[in-house]
Amino acid sequence: MKNFIARIVVVLILLVALPAIFFLVKQASNLSENEEIVQRVFDQQLETILYTVNQNSENVIVSWVNQLDLSVDFKGEVMQKITGNVFTNNRAVEQILFIRLQDNRILASYLQTGIDGKEIRLPDAEVVDKLRAYMKSGYQRIEAVRDGDKTKLFFILKSSGNEVFALISIHSATFIDQNLKPGIQQISQDRFTISIFDSTEIGNEGLVDTLMISEGHIHEQKMLYVPGYKMNIGLQSATIDELVSERTQRDNYIFIAMLVIILLGMGFVFFSIRKEIKLAEMKSEFVSNVSHEIRTPLALISMYTETLLMKRVKTEEKKEEYLTVIHKETERLTGMVNRILNFSKMEKNKRSYHFSDVNMNELITDLTADYQPHFKAEQVNCQLVLDESIGLISADREAVTEALINLMENAVKYGKEPAKQIVIRTKNADQKIRIEVEDNGIGMAQKHLKFIFDKFYRITQGNLAHKAKGSGIGLNIVKQIMTQHNGKVSVKSKEGEGSCFTLLFNEKIEKNDKNIGS
Ligand code: ADP
Repeated sequence: MKNFIARIVVVLILLVALPAIFFLVKQASNLSENEEIVQRVFDQQLETILYTVNQNSENVIVSWVNQLDLSVDFKGEVMQKITGNVFTNNRAVEQILFIRLQDNRILASYLQTGIDGKEIRLPDAEVVDKLRAYMKSGYQRIEAVRDGDKTKLFFILKSSGNEVFALISIHSATFIDQNLKPGIQQISQDRFTISIFDSTEIGNEGLVDTLMISEGHIHEQKMLYVPGYKMNIGLQSATIDELVSERTQRDNYIFIAMLVIILLGMGFVFFSIRKEIKLAEMKSEFVSNVSHEIRTPLALISMYTETLLMKRVKTEEKKEEYLTVIHKETERLTGMVNRILNFSKMEKNKRSYHFSDVNMNELITDLTADYQPHFKAEQVNCQLVLDESIGLISADREAVTEALINLMENAVKYGKEPAKQIVIRTKNADQKIRIEVEDNGIGMAQKHLKFIFDKFYRITQGNLAHKAKGSGIGLNIVKQIMTQHNGKVSVKSKEGEGSCFTLLFNEKIEKNDKNIGS
């Protein structure tokens, strides 16, 4: 049995431990790999977001270029209207100039309302040459140049046959605030912090509300159309490492929870198997014990009947003695078989109970009187201490008698020779009736007490306990009978000193109300 259980334990451990270790090792090696992959993907994502912001600013500026690049009179009504529109829709645009390439002559100049037109600095020849070169290869480049808190955008007008270029002067901070901020807020959506700041003025505050980014991966890019300004992006709450480890940690928690559930399941399986094995063992022991017990009376009956049949017994007295033995052994056998049959019925919940009013004092007095010869033969002194005030109980007389017999027979069986003593008491206890069967026998160690009412449980240690015959169902029958009576059985015992079993019944409540006043 021990070997078998050890084998089960090893199998269960292998079943859980190996996959668990495998998973943990894999999880650990995956961790850095995961981190790298997530990091890479994330970096790309952040770069793309920054690129989008630059793209947004390009879109806004290109839309202005398209509006202004018309072959109309630069001072004419149409251009006045167009520039007027640009100024109204974009507070950041402060001044628009049209300049002839050839001699840098200003052909027209428009001003945002409320802005003083300052002497404007025209672009260096170098910038103009660059624009020309691009134009030649068919690309209308927009050159952005920083000028204090302003940004100047230069581009050649295609519509003028590359003769004229335009200058749009914008207030950098206002441009970012009005034209880019709404888009950025939409992109960041509480997940990222995007901040745009003047990189030339250290300590200058970001124009877009910035949250402190703790550490880790912050991506930075230059603003293409607002020179001197930079933008950066980071995660708002956690770094990427934190995110990855948070996820891994969550995975680990799930894994541990699963492991605990599996272990609990395994524990349950293990204990169930162990219980079943123990029960199977006890059952087989029960069969062997019962066979053993049955064999003795059968052998006696067989021996005495054979002697009688062979007419070897001479005197009538001897004959009677033999017949008495046969009768006694047959009764013992019948008792044993009945007990097993009753137990089997109880197991199947098929035993029927017939309740009637029972006076326990009377029942005990009658029962012990019947048992006197048996007590005499076993040299037992049985004493009754009966409380006359106890009321009736509602009980199945036969079942209660069987329970008492089981307790009495145990008291005799496990009694200590030569002076076996049994005391049976009845007591009134707060609408309950207590019946105690006390002996001065071998007693039981404390560790057995919670098991002795289990079926097939026997104490096989100790000399007498080992010798005493039994099947291990007697006390279980008592327990089942008491349950059927809504009562309880309990035991107090001390090894070497004796045991006291108590049956606790509910007292039957008399209904005398009908008689009152009649
Ligand atoms: P059994 O057929 O073995 O007597 P029981 O169910 O009646 O089975 O009792 C279970 C075990 O409890 C017994 O094997 C015995 O060890 C112990 N036991 C029961 N009654 C007593 C008692 N009065 N004194 C000591 N041990 C007892």
